[in-house]
Amino acid sequence: MSNHVLQAVGEEATSGLSFDLGKEKDFLRQNIRALVEREVPREYARELDEKEEFPHKVWKALAENGYLGIPIEEQYGGVNGDIVDMAIVTEELARRSGSIGLTFFMSSCFGAKTLQFAASEMLKRRYLPDLAQGKIMFAFSLTEPDGGTDVLGAMKTYAVEKDDHWVINGQKVWTTCAHVADYLVVMTRTNDKLPKKAEGISVFLVKRDTPGIRLRKLEKIGILATPSFEVFYENVKVPKDHLIGEKDRGFYQTLAMLNNERILTAALCLGEAQAAFEDALQYAKERRAFGKPIGQFQAIQHKLSWMRTKVELARLITYKAAWLQSLGRDCAVEANMAKLVAANFAGEVTDAGMQIFGGYGYSREYDMQRYWRDCRLHKVGPVSDEMVLNFIGERLGLPRSY
Ligand SMILES: Cc1cc2nc3c(=O)[nH]c(=O)nc-3n(C[C@H](O)[C@H](O)[C@H](O)COP(=O)(O)OP(=O)(O)OC[C@H]3O[C@@H](n4cnc5c(N)ncnc54)[C@H](O)[C@@H]3O)c2cc1C
Repeated sequence: MSNHVLQAVGEEATSGLSFDLGKEKDFLRQNIRALVEREVPREYARELDEKEEFPHKVWKALAENGYLGIPIEEQYGGVNGDIVDMAIVTEELARRSGSIGLTFFMSSCFGAKTLQFAASEMLKRRYLPDLAQGKIMFAFSLTEPDGGTDVLGAMKTYAVEKDDHWVINGQKVWTTCAHVADYLVVMTRTNDKLPKKAEGISVFLVKRDTPGIRLRKLEKIGILATPSFEVFYENVKVPKDHLIGEKDRGFYQTLAMLNNERILTAALCLGEAQAAFEDALQYAKERRAFGKPIGQFQAIQHKLSWMRTKVELARLITYKAAWLQSLGRDCAVEANMAKLVAANFAGEVTDAGMQIFGGYGYSREYDMQRYWRDCRLHKVGPVSDEMVLNFIGERLGLPRSY
């Protein structure tokens, strides 16, 4: 290799490769971490989980301190942050509580991004400033009882045009935070005569207290401060101008949001895994057996070393996917890999945490069981590991298996 080539290689490596998020992003992390310490003491996070209570106080604090404006463009009252900013905030909130991370994730992804990608100027002007100020909340009503993976095949909820409005009939399931949402982002079929099942789907912004909407709470095992609901729609009238984007093109419109969803799911898992690692490390230093701290036993040390390693690997792929997305580069494979790695490692890390805590891992007085319960969701929702693997397989050039 000539000196010239060697010089070029050196330049490329130093100027193009950096694992440093930069001063501004570090500052954002410090600030959101400080907000969590101030507004979400551990006891409060535990209490929200036990009472299955939405974190209104934290939502208000996020709004007052400008965090809810991160995913929103300046012209609509936001601060025009990028997906790296959103991932940092999601991770830090989830480090204390998966449910609290989820509230920010849902408002960013399903509220702000859906409207910004697809809605009319009128809807953006009317709703985004209120969302940035935390005056309104959105929930996402997509999944139906017959299936979330084959969501299009299973979709029976239908909207028809009648006079000056739409009328929705059908049933959704797992609509998280429907009880506190002011608006539901609802996906329905609007045409069943089109050749592809991805065609003929539309998205509506529906006021939650519209007559004909009924909720039934689901009993679940995790993310309990953000309850999930079956939502029944019976002759629900929606103003014509509350169709988000184009009629029959709703599914294609929401595809733009999917990478954000994968990356923020990975950030949630990362926060939960980080919390489990930190608690386990502390516990291993304090808990004693055979006259020594349990952290002195190699079996425990190795678990902790693996936990730390897995958290680091999940962090690398999550922020790489976010970085690609923030530069407008294709990140679909990395975003899916990030969700896969972070969800699985969070499962393994929290499970190792449960083992290190011994019997107390099983006690609700410690947070480990909450991290363990909360992160289990993300192997399934919002997208399952299997579908993520199918997607990566197809990107390898292999034929679709379903
Ligand atoms: C706590 C919680 C909160 C949620 N919040 C929301 C929300 O706010 N809004 C909303 O709309 N939805 C929400 N969901 C729904 C979630 O997105 C779905 O549960 C998820 O998409 C999986 O759908 P399903 O549960 O119907 O599983 P199914 O589709 O029945 O799948 C069952 C299993 O079969 C596998 N499978 C299916 N097809 C294939 C295939 N082709 N190849 C390989 N494996 C396959 C799946 O991966 C899975 O393991 C939530 C779910 C939960 C549990």
